[in-house]
Parts: sequence; C-alpha cells; structure tokens
Amino acid sequence: MKKILTILFAGGALFLNAQERCGTTAITEKMMSENPEYANARSKVNQQTEKWIENHPNHSEKIIITIPVVVHVLYSNNNQNISDAQILSQIDVLNEDFRRTNIDAINTPSVWQSIAADSEIEFCMATTDPNGQPTDGINRVQTTHGAFGMNSDVHSTPAGGADDWPNDDYLNIWVCNIETGLLGYATPPSNWTGDGDGLVIGYQYFGRIGTVQPPYNKGRTATHEIGHWLNLDHVWGGGWGSCGDDNVSDTPTQEQENYSCPGYPHNPNSCSTTNPEGDMFMNYMDYTNDACMNLFTNGQKTRMLAAINQYRPNMLNHNLCTGTVAVSETQNQKRKLIKIVDVLGRTTTNQPTNSTLFYIYNDGSVDKKIIVE
Ligand SMILES: [Zn+2]
Repeated sequence: MKKILTILFAGGALFLNAQERCGTTAITEKMMSENPEYANARSKVNQQTEKWIENHPNHSEKIIITIPVVVHVLYSNNNQNISDAQILSQIDVLNEDFRRTNIDAINTPSVWQSIAADSEIEFCMATTDPNGQPTDGINRVQTTHGAFGMNSDVHSTPAGGADDWPNDDYLNIWVCNIETGLLGYATPPSNWTGDGDGLVIGYQYFGRIGTVQPPYNKGRTATHEIGHWLNLDHVWGGGWGSCGDDNVSDTPTQEQENYSCPGYPHNPNSCSTTNPEGDMFMNYMDYTNDACMNLFTNGQKTRMLAAINQYRPNMLNHNLCTGTVAVSETQNQKRKLIKIVDVLGRTTTNQPTNSTLFYIYNDGSVDKKIIVE
C-alpha cells in the first residue's frame, strides 16, 4: 500500500505544483477522527444549512455583519514578526473581497458577473480583548517552536503557540512559520467548537505587503480560508478528480482544482456536462494564483450567512471593535471619563495628535481614539 501511494504522489499533478494551497480537508478529517462529537456535529451541518436557507428565503435586507479579528503573530525571528501594516493590509483585502470592492472584480467573466456577490460581511481588528481591556487586536508571541504542523501546538501557549481568544466571539488567526508547502488551513463550523477554531496562515502568505511571496501575495489565502471557516467547500467539491458537489447551486461542477492562472473558458463540458463556461477557476475557493481570483457567488454568500446565523451567532451583534469616536459618543453620553492612557498603558493628560489613546470610563467601557488634525 505504501508503494502505491508513493507512485501516485510522484505522478500526481497536484504535487508537481509543489505548493498545497490549503490543509482544511486534512485538518477537518484529523479533528473528526480525534473528536467523535465534532464528527457527529459536522455530519449534520449540510442538512441544517439547507433547512436554514429554506426557512430564510428573503435575507435581502442589507445588514452588514462585522467580524472581530485577533491576529496571533508567532515568531522566532524578525522576518516572521510581520508588521502592523502587513496585518492591516490583510484586513483591507478581506473587506474588499467580501464586499466585492476588489479592483480585479472586473476580471470576472461577464457570464458570471450577475451572480458575483457582495457578501455583506466585513472584518475589523478587535479593540477590546477577552478581559475587556483595550487592544489593537494583535497578539505578538515570541517562540522557539520550529515550523508549525497541523496539530494543537499553534493554539497552545505552553506548547510555543498562543491560546485562542474565545472562539464564539472572535475570529482567531494565527500567523506563523507553517510547515513547508502548506499555505494555510481553517476549521469549518458546526455546533461543536473546541480549541483552535479559526485560521492558521504562513507569514509569507498573509496580507499583500512585507514578507509575502508571489504568486500568493495578494491576501487571498485568508479569503479562501475564511470561506472554509464559514462553511464553504472547494468549488470542485472535495477529492482529486472527483467532479464532486460543493453544495452551492450557482458554481459549475468541476472535475478538480486549478493551479496557476488558466485562460477562460477552461475545461468546458467537463464532468459529462454541456457547460460551455467550464470551471469557475477565478472563484476564491479554487487553488489558482492570488492575482487570478476575484469572486464569491450569491450561492456561496447564502451559505456563509447561514453559517454565521447558525454556528457563529455572536458575530451578528457585538461591541468588540467600536473604536470610532462618533459612534461611542452618541451611545454613551451618560458615562464619566476616568482617565486617558497611551498605547504603553501610561496615564496621560495631554492629547497629542496622530497617536492612539484609550479613554477609560466609569461604566467599564473603553474607547480607542486618534485625534487627527
Ligand atoms: Zn481550501
């Protein structure tokens, strides 16, 4: 058996491309074998999702869902300790891709423009940590751990990783030195969540500036992995050469994953279809180069909204990144200011411009403010 596997691996097109874009299928299978409750919960997700979608046919009113993010940066050298600006560039990519304001949206073939979705999901860096303290949403942890594999070390402080912030409230993203060949992975949702729920992404593939390496240098690894975290499958539906089902009706059936950047149309009439458009290889849930990806579909959007409503409902309504002055002032007119501290926690009385300050109030609330002149 071992010999047969070796031959397949050496000959498979997948491995000629060197980089395995995504380890989500592997981590999901591993978690299911280790936790029968997760396997049981995951087995019900597709049915529960179909039911939710059936019962919510008109989710057309525009409600923007904002997901609070904590980024754990695990580093053993300066290169791995990516900059704040690199992290924020990733948040920008997510907001563009999930709201379809990405500039390469025009590259979506015209036949699919009408089903390309503004998913109405946004992302913000958390401004309040699990203890109610102000934060910039970035947790930097120096480690002596070598490259992280797909095990629990990454989400365990004693093992050289970083403990999760509560999974129900935050999207945890660990950025680290990940084992060679893998760009990242995520945990798909269900009614069961254990430690380590979130995304793990290599520091060479996170954001679109700094340490990123082409052709995965436009932040689409995180876009893809959040798709999984919100219950999207790969567009080809799973196994290699499977012509499988991704449980989304408006993505065409596709034989297998695509790499690099094919020309359109690619693989028309595959999987015994009469489909002249061929593969939707520019979908975020394929394996093509970052510069080649540009859409989620309406069907994928519906599935993601179902996932948030069913399995991640705390994301619908929270107060974890309300850093803006205007909103907090109208909401909290009766509270009294106790003190103002700077980013190092020092109490300050002057209010310098263009630097971040935290306003702490007698009702326990904290506002992050930057005075700009
Ligand atoms: Zn994937």
